[in-house]
Amino acid sequence: MNLIFLGQQGAGKGTFAQYLGNTKGLVQISAGDLLRAEVKAETETGKKAKEIMNKGLLVPDELIAELIEKKIEKEKNNGIILDGYPRTLKQAELLENIINHLNMKINAVINFTISDETTFERIGGRLTCKTCNKVYHEKFLPPKEKGKCDVDGGELIIREDDKKQAIMKRLEEYKKQTKPLIDYYKEKGLLKEVDAEPILDKIKPIFDEIIKEIEN
Ligand SMILES: [Zn+2]
Repeated sequence: MNLIFLGQQGAGKGTFAQYLGNTKGLVQISAGDLLRAEVKAETETGKKAKEIMNKGLLVPDELIAELIEKKIEKEKNNGIILDGYPRTLKQAELLENIINHLNMKINAVINFTISDETTFERIGGRLTCKTCNKVYHEKFLPPKEKGKCDVDGGELIIREDDKKQAIMKRLEEYKKQTKPLIDYYKEKGLLKEVDAEPILDKIKPIFDEIIKEIEN
């Protein structure tokens, strides 16, 4: 089974990817993680990407597609979940070439939907330890002592990325990019919507049903 997960921040894509990893052995593939790993390993691609990013430019779609293809090919027999990739119509078209090239197929695209308010609620309260980068949440995962990391007592801060203004900007960008993507997969008959608004325990049975449907 090969899936694509779409959904704005806070929709819980990562949680469901992990869940399917544990229950079905699917491998979660994130373009961002792949890129970071290449940069860290200082591969040729990694060096190229770093140079581009250092100039403040976006890494070209073709370079990311190369990484994605390598990884998909490696995990072909396990089944995959593309988490947060593709992001744009152009990336979706590149992905289609990759999938065809590898003689595979995408079984479904699952779009996890939540309101902007819920995104703010879930992401907005995020606190990060200045020392070890452990992530807490004011409401859902508070530290034992206010403002201090449980592990090392480090100061907990709100990262620039997690400030409301930044979240709003990202949401706008996400919607603009994703709208044509959603139409594209709808037209192909691949799109499934999951209302990710309720708590996890309530979504899980619905999600399980959808997966069963895809498997058949
Ligand atoms: Zn810490």
